Amino acid sequence: MDIIKNIEQIRKDFPILEEKVHKHKLVYLDNAATTQKPWSVIKKIEEGYTHQNANVHRGVHFLSQMATEAHEDARKTVQNFLGAEHSHEIIFTRGTTESINLVAYSFGETFLKEGDEIIISEMEHHSNIVPWQLLRTRKNITIKVIPFNEKGELDLETYSSLFTERTRLVAVTHVSNVLGTINPVKEIIKTAHSHNVPVLIDGAQSVPHISVNVKDLDVDFYVFSGHKIYGPTGMGVLYGKEKWLDAMVPYQGGGEMIAQVSFENTTFNELPYKFEAGTPDFIGSTALAEAIRYVQSIGMNEIAAYETYLLNYATEKLKNLGDIRIFGTSEHKSAVISMQVGNIHHYDMGTLLDKLGIALRTGHHCAQPIMKHFGIEGTLRASFALYNTTEEIDALISGIERVKKLF
Ligand code: PLP
Repeated sequence: MDIIKNIEQIRKDFPILEEKVHKHKLVYLDNAATTQKPWSVIKKIEEGYTHQNANVHRGVHFLSQMATEAHEDARKTVQNFLGAEHSHEIIFTRGTTESINLVAYSFGETFLKEGDEIIISEMEHHSNIVPWQLLRTRKNITIKVIPFNEKGELDLETYSSLFTERTRLVAVTHVSNVLGTINPVKEIIKTAHSHNVPVLIDGAQSVPHISVNVKDLDVDFYVFSGHKIYGPTGMGVLYGKEKWLDAMVPYQGGGEMIAQVSFENTTFNELPYKFEAGTPDFIGSTALAEAIRYVQSIGMNEIAAYETYLLNYATEKLKNLGDIRIFGTSEHKSAVISMQVGNIHHYDMGTLLDKLGIALRTGHHCAQPIMKHFGIEGTLRASFALYNTTEEIDALISGIERVKKLF
């Protein structure tokens, strides 16, 4: 694998990995929460504010035109990365959460009536639960839930049985941020389409780790966050098929999203601007495009293979430690390990590992229904990225051993 050969250089691309935490070398294993940024992304942000800062779309002057061009080029980079048909099917948002809220509001207001139904799953992040509950309150709709089994795999037979003539949308995650399960989204989409029901896929944990092509998936809406793919925070993407976005009412009102405004009547701008009210994050978009170029330069299949290698290495070592329960044991798994070590509270384990410079996440990971499924409050979660190494996993293992001795 090229990443193994080039890992030293790759790590040098990420300046924060040189940091010391509590006098220890940082071991950053909280990548499902957010990823670190390569120099190219950091420099792009600096370059944007240093040389290219002017509001986009409205200016005739040089800087504004340059900023507009960079912003629209970034949209094309995202379009090509996702394999979308049109660049106007790419809507820039603040992140996965805002993208889902946008669809829940605009699709919901346009197409859902009292008594209609949507289907989500038991393994969703709160971002793919709560926006639909807000819609339920507004429209009096029903939310049906696909359960998962003990391995953390969706029960597709039950899924098929949830459809009725009132089903209007399916919204599921591609990869679970707790269980790591890579869901068979192509099959899920095919089933929904056989009932003429569109599908939203939450790609927050998939886009940074595996190759995604929205045309191949034939997905109707696909969403992800910039900060989880080595890009800037506060920057996200909603991909939507033109036919849906065209028909949907706007999400927010303001500048940029209008064609003409009068006190009597306002008409809306064309796609994608209809969904981008206000000044967009035009520096963030160019930095996101830079992050995409970074992962493309390594290759998504290469990244997926390397992270699977890290996942297998870590899983084996953790199992050998004994007295560890891993939540999420699907064969189709991304490099996320949620666990319980003996009787040690996840919060204590996380806090003591931090003292050794090892950053993991503890708690419910914004997925309380998963915790309820297993009858637990939270887990200790290690999640990996392309810059992690087997030496860091060894540091985690010896860290856990040290903490275990304390208890
Ligand atoms: N969906 C999944 C599966 C996630 O893991 C996350 C974040 O952890 C989100 C949605 C929300 O992403 P953001 O907070 O970037 O909007």
